[in-house]
Order: sequence, then structure tokens, then C-alpha cells
Amino acid sequence: MTFDKIVLAVDKVFRDLDEHLALMTSETGMKCLHLCNACCRKTDIEASPIEFIPLAASLYESGKVDEFLIRLDHSDETGYCVLFSPEAWKDGNWGCLNYEKRGLICRLFGFGYRLNREGIPELVTCKKMKENCPEAVAKARQSGCETPDEVPLFRNYSMRLYSIDPDLSIRQLPINKAIRLAIEKLYFHYAPGVEHQTDD
Ligand code: SF4
Ligand code: SF4
Repeated sequence: MTFDKIVLAVDKVFRDLDEHLALMTSETGMKCLHLCNACCRKTDIEASPIEFIPLAASLYESGKVDEFLIRLDHSDETGYCVLFSPEAWKDGNWGCLNYEKRGLICRLFGFGYRLNREGIPELVTCKKMKENCPEAVAKARQSGCETPDEVPLFRNYSMRLYSIDPDLSIRQLPINKAIRLAIEKLYFHYAPGVEHQTDD
């Protein structure tokens, strides 16, 4: 698949997931706390490079890749996500410098489901939601049992990414490493004077 098609395909997976989560939000009341970004303030977030292919493409297309790489070079590979900005948070934003192009894992921080040993979807959510929205959490748990085919399963969305490009999806890496690999992967696609890949 060409990189243009990979970008479109990953974007489509994210759009579908966002719609799915919005539906669950309206049905259960599960919703992030206002201006909370506790999940981005972690240093052990892992992701696969494919999750950041749309981010990488947008950086190349907007001419901001060099600036971004400098920021990445100054980030600890196993530290805070390079897109996390406490300064942005202070100004009233949530703290992600490119929320629209965030990865799959970021979209599922709030809630998602994994299959338990009996094959029943089990809610996975954060401590903040459990503490602050117990009724919504109870409803969301119930949905996993009552409408198992309708809840957003981590596995289904990961498999969709895997089917787009197994090499870019198979490894879970520290988030900054995943972002760097996504940028490197697109280098030859966007490098001046290099013909675009047409291998599909
Ligand atoms: S990409 Fe954005 S949402 Fe995801 S961990 Fe980084 S700062 Fe948080
Ligand atoms: S997922 Fe939880 S910790 Fe992260 S922003 Fe939402 S409420 Fe806060």
C-alpha cells in the first residue's frame, strides 16, 4: 500500500473509533474530566509507529517536520510524550499539541474494552473516571455484558491497524520512539527529488 493510502486508512480507523466512542459517551455518560490530562503525564505510554503516521504526514505537509524533530531530539525517549505541553495546558488547553493527530492509545485512554477469559468485553478505564463518574462507569461496564458486539474493543481497532501495515503495527514502543519511527518511515516519501512509493 502506498503511504498516501496508509495515511487515509489510518485516519479512517481513527474517525470510526471517535464516532464509536462518541456513541458510547452519549449512551453511558463516560467523558473525560474537563481539562484533565493525567493520562498524558505518564512516562510509560507505549504505541506503535502506525498510530502516528497521520501526525508524521501532517508535519511533512505543513513544513514543520524539522522544527518538530528538534523538539523530539530534546525529549527523553522514555520520558513525557513529545506532544505533551504543560505550557499549553496552563493556557487553558488540554496539553496535547496536536490532539487531532494523536494516536490510537490516546483515543482509548478514557475508556475501551478488552475481552476477559470468558470472551466478555471488560471495561478498561482510568482512575479519574472511576473516582469521579462512578455511575457512568457502572453503565459502561453493563454495556460490555449486555451489548458485547457494540462496544469499542481495543483488539478490533488494533487489528484494523495491523491489517493496514503489519510492520508498522506489530511493535509497541515508548511513545516518543513510535513517533520518531513514523517520521523516519515517511522521510523518503516526502524527501525532495525522491519519487513517491508506488508499491501497491
Ligand atoms: S499524543 Fe497527545 S494525547 Fe497522546 S500522549 Fe501525547 S500529549 Fe497525550
Ligand atoms: S482518560 Fe482519564 S486521566 Fe485521561 S484525560 Fe480522560 S479523565 Fe483524565
